[in-house]
Amino acid sequence: MRIAQVLLPLPLPEAFDYAEPDGMELKAGDLVAVPLGPRQIGGVVTAVRDGAGHNRQLKPILARLDEAPLPAGALAFIEWAARYSVDVPGAPLSIALRGARAPKPKPARMLIATGAAPARATPARTRVLEAAAEGPIAPAALVAKAGVSSGVIKGLIDEGALEAVFEIVEAAFPEPNLDGPSSPLNPSQAAAAKVLTGLIAEGGFQAALLDGVTGSGKTEVYLEAVAELLRADPEAQVLVLLPEIALTQAVLARFEDRFGVMPGEWHSGIAPPKRRRVWEAVGAGRCRIVVGARSALFLPFKSLRLIVVDEEHDSSFKQEEGFIYHARDMAVARAKIEGAMVVLASATPSLESLWNAESGRYKWLKLRSRHGAAELPDIGLIDLRETPPETGRWLSPPLVRAVAETLGRGEQALLFLNRRGYAPLVLCRSCGEKLTAPDTDSWLVEHRYTGRLICHLTGFSMPKPKTCPHCAAADSLVSIGPGVERIEDEARALFPDAEIAVFSSDTVMHPDAARELIGRMEAGKIDILVATQAAAKGHNFPNLTLVGVVDADLGLRGGDLRAAERTYQLLAQATGRAGRAERPGRALLQTYAPDHAVMQALKAQDRDGFVAVEMAEREAARLPPFGRLAAVICSGPDAEALETFVRALAAAVPNTGDVEVYGPADAPLALVRGRRRKRFLVRADRTVDLQAFLSAWRARVRPPGSVRVVIDVDPYSFL
Ligand code: ADP
Repeated sequence: MRIAQVLLPLPLPEAFDYAEPDGMELKAGDLVAVPLGPRQIGGVVTAVRDGAGHNRQLKPILARLDEAPLPAGALAFIEWAARYSVDVPGAPLSIALRGARAPKPKPARMLIATGAAPARATPARTRVLEAAAEGPIAPAALVAKAGVSSGVIKGLIDEGALEAVFEIVEAAFPEPNLDGPSSPLNPSQAAAAKVLTGLIAEGGFQAALLDGVTGSGKTEVYLEAVAELLRADPEAQVLVLLPEIALTQAVLARFEDRFGVMPGEWHSGIAPPKRRRVWEAVGAGRCRIVVGARSALFLPFKSLRLIVVDEEHDSSFKQEEGFIYHARDMAVARAKIEGAMVVLASATPSLESLWNAESGRYKWLKLRSRHGAAELPDIGLIDLRETPPETGRWLSPPLVRAVAETLGRGEQALLFLNRRGYAPLVLCRSCGEKLTAPDTDSWLVEHRYTGRLICHLTGFSMPKPKTCPHCAAADSLVSIGPGVERIEDEARALFPDAEIAVFSSDTVMHPDAARELIGRMEAGKIDILVATQAAAKGHNFPNLTLVGVVDADLGLRGGDLRAAERTYQLLAQATGRAGRAERPGRALLQTYAPDHAVMQALKAQDRDGFVAVEMAEREAARLPPFGRLAAVICSGPDAEALETFVRALAAAVPNTGDVEVYGPADAPLALVRGRRRKRFLVRADRTVDLQAFLSAWRARVRPPGSVRVVIDVDPYSFL
């Protein structure tokens, strides 16, 4: 008898043993169905061993699933990811099997010529029969190919010249055309592309940081590297990771222009049948280019040779719920496991990546100027203490003038505010109460389009009440502060003739909507775009020459470890949207703190100076990238049980001199969905095995059933 060790996509500490039925001949990576208690569940075989002498009664594997096995690289990556995140391997496995869980495509009705001659031959009928003679074809495709009406086709079916067959249509991922049109690279782009292709040709794990200002042509450079790779290795697969679904459309289009085929697309907005096709085609090696969001990292690539992480600094790469991981860091790990190349691209790289580049671990490729005649925008600061907006308004007179001038020249303006909705806070003028969700400690955000108050943390929403829910005063609720909807109102009042649109995750909820809005913006049909960060990344709008940042200080207020870095990145990206083509652009930042280091660095476009100061501060405090951090978040509905548990946990900190543990403290978000939250913060030097420390610590105290413990290695959120 042989024993198969099977990992299940469930929160279990380890793989389970099952007996291999005779003749099944399982091997690592095979997907199987196994019994678990009363139910049947799919999992993956991680190892098979001889069971001779084994005296425990094992349940047998029920069946091998009709799926391609997970490749060794994918399996090794799942196990590595779990260990790094101090989580169970079932958590990343569950992400990896998402494609397998999507329903298989159903057989589709296709038409094929039977060979029987029609009663009456017309040119239209002949065209149809010729088109359907080559093999089964979908009715709509036949209509298009033969250029006839569906009536013609129906007639031929009735006469028996065409017949219907049902077939599963395999996803067509045609081979990319590697000799298609490409823009000649400028000298610095060509130099960067040459280094990349040289590294890829060397083979094995390689990492590079493609550090180029906005509009310098980073995408052109990595497209060139992709082309070279696909040319050199007919099996090679490429993954491009993007931080936002809204960005995938633009990048997909660039790939389609260049290679004449659409890459596989992978993110949560993809319908299950399509997801299933991409998953299968990637596993079979038929899909050679995938463009997707972070979870694409867990696809079963057969021969992954290159991963590009575009906008690598973006904190959306950090998955904060469920299995917690940072897709940039995981991309580097997967590349290492696969012996592949990873390219991290950004105009404002993270301090972590800059540190790796400085220390020589990553090859550092720099593009210092925009392509062609395009110039970086002029950046000016508007001191709101000197030129404040009128009461109840948010746009200061200098910004309003600049917008008017821009529109006067027939150009476009973008007003950037990283806040969804109409107002971030609703307050009762009578009792002073700030409205929050019933079970969560965060303010309800007013949305005027829907007339609702929404908790952005949990999704709770309610209609805006007429009276204060606390003191019952009538008409006492006031909206405090602006969100994009409020800025839109103000812009409409100021520029009644302008075409104004809002780009935020509330107005653009689907990739098609993003494509439509971006298309209108590119075509110059929008005069003023009011946008959150959803639009501030990556796009090229040739006629956009003014970016106004409504509240440049917004990101600094939280004051966490990365507040300054993140604000710099976000504002450099947002202002980088201006003046992408030949028209010079400018950006104006409204701020109450014009002397702040971030504002001064942005104004002087002195990224390196800013980074140097920030690095020095992190180094002095031994914070990332110079030290390692982890957060331990404990939560539960019962305050007393939680308190008892965190005290016990605090008393059980393993006694290692080189790890500092701070806390427990109330989390800034002390109540979420009815659960109270407490946090520990752990800091260690880079030489410490933080994962081993965390596992050992957690194992010392068993939480009561009501308490949940979440470990967040390399935390980005401190709430
Ligand atoms: P980045 O990714 O660095 O922001 P992109 O690759 O998007 O830059 O390039 C910015 C703009 O410049 C795009 O519209 C792109 O088509 C154009 N561009 C960049 N490099 C070239 C080139 N070598 N030839 C023609 N157009 C280019």
